[in-house]
Amino acid sequence: MRLGINHLENLVDATGQTYFDVFMTDPAEAVHDWPDFVDLPSRYLEAAIMVRQMLGIKIKTEDVLRRRVLSTLHQDGLAHRPETPYTREGAYTGEQGLVLKALNTLYMDRRDPGIAKRMRAMVDGLGRVTMKRSQLYFAIRPLVQSWRTIGYGPALDLAEQLASELMYRTSQYGVDGSYSGHHHSHLETLAGVLSYALVVGKTDLVARVKKCFDFAVSISTRFGFVPEVAERKADIVGCETCTIMDYLDVAILLARNGYPQYWDVVEKTARNHLVESQIRDGSWLGDAPSQGDTDRIVYTGVPSRAVGAFAGWSSPDHYLAFEDELWPSWCKDESQYPFYLGKIRALQNCCAGSGLRAIFQVWKNVACLQGEDLYVNLHIDKKIHGVTVVGYQPYEGRTSVKVGLACRLHVRIPSFVTTSDVSIAVNGSAVRFEVEGPYAVLGRVEAGVSVEMTYPLPVWEEDIVIGNPGYKSFKYRIRWKGDTVVQVAPDSNNAKTGYSDMIGRDVRLHYAGQGPGKLYDRAHLLRSHLAVRASDARLDTSTVDWYDLYHQR
Ligand SMILES: [Zn+2]
Repeated sequence: MRLGINHLENLVDATGQTYFDVFMTDPAEAVHDWPDFVDLPSRYLEAAIMVRQMLGIKIKTEDVLRRRVLSTLHQDGLAHRPETPYTREGAYTGEQGLVLKALNTLYMDRRDPGIAKRMRAMVDGLGRVTMKRSQLYFAIRPLVQSWRTIGYGPALDLAEQLASELMYRTSQYGVDGSYSGHHHSHLETLAGVLSYALVVGKTDLVARVKKCFDFAVSISTRFGFVPEVAERKADIVGCETCTIMDYLDVAILLARNGYPQYWDVVEKTARNHLVESQIRDGSWLGDAPSQGDTDRIVYTGVPSRAVGAFAGWSSPDHYLAFEDELWPSWCKDESQYPFYLGKIRALQNCCAGSGLRAIFQVWKNVACLQGEDLYVNLHIDKKIHGVTVVGYQPYEGRTSVKVGLACRLHVRIPSFVTTSDVSIAVNGSAVRFEVEGPYAVLGRVEAGVSVEMTYPLPVWEEDIVIGNPGYKSFKYRIRWKGDTVVQVAPDSNNAKTGYSDMIGRDVRLHYAGQGPGKLYDRAHLLRSHLAVRASDARLDTSTVDWYDLYHQR
């Protein structure tokens, strides 16, 4: 999260405008594009608030991002792009949900009545939309949240209309849960339908979304490489970080509401492909500017400004899976071609805001207190009021919980061990425990005790294949230590070129061991006898919570 501050502060201009495209030109270019007026600023604003809520650090661009997002809202309640050389004026349906998400997060942050008023106006505006109504499906999640945060009934009514229309009157999702197309959009929609079904208690709809999510899991890897496009008609396959965000959103919603087995998906995805997708080293991008920056393009220091952003199309072991380009219809008109065409796309920065949001989503749910029941869902450091969790993976198979309040304690047993391999001690003395689903359950524990779960941390391997049905596939050997991937070894025979459906020709691929930025440089984690020191976890005092859905029922 801290690394994200670098990007949020250094690749946003003085007006709060972001840079959607980063091209692998020489030098690398960061270029403003049509998503930089409404879509990306909304994501960056949410990320900025989440950074502050999580770390207590206010980033320098937060205020300008907020001003920009609010300035896009017009009389009709909707967010509008302006008329520019590369955008046409108008309220684009598909972008509105992102703004409503940002408004919800803003409201949960400050409880500002002015924001609530804008939320109501936007919900009313969305209710009047008749064009491209199917793109309103992306707004179901923030509509449900609007009902939750400001208690605005029409938001839930519209969510109901949209969810019913989509799930009962279209065939977008097969009876077996399968679907095809842009995966970020599908999972964003499914998270919305699921949140609606949960708050109104429609168990049949929850079950349908679960089936769709099981399909998403089946086409993703165990470590969270989630394909950008489901059933793509191409050889290229990459993982968009936005998709990881929505994948985690659905998994967390399911896990918190009756299907705790999905915490395993959350833990493995968070520890592995989510954090590996964050750009820690931008040296694979060219950095030798011979010209100054313009209003549209940044040439200076793009590799360092990209640090903290997230991969737009990662392969299992590189920041970039394939060397694709934009296509003519992306541009407003031919005059814009020189800015965007014929350049290899390195990053799409929608993923920068989404990656940081995804980290916040996971962090928020490591441990949850529900009434007198304390659930430790993930083996990751966390401090909530009266509870401190320290997870020692991938160094040791150990999780300690200091409990400052009397409760019934549930600690999830990692999926790679059997119950008989798990030991639990309270204040140093072994105790018996019950098993309920994936949790080890201790009856009532008193305030002030120290609980420790220990378990083996096996090193194990699996062979995986990624690729689209009917097209080229790519093999990898994955080495795990517990829930953590420590090595990703591609088959050197994997194809080095393949067909891109976006530009209709073959492009260079990075699935054979050579490529931009190496992921999973983690061999040191295989050493034993590492000295482990617990991190200094900050107390969670955040008010932004997208998972507490029931408060106002
Ligand atoms: Zn993205």
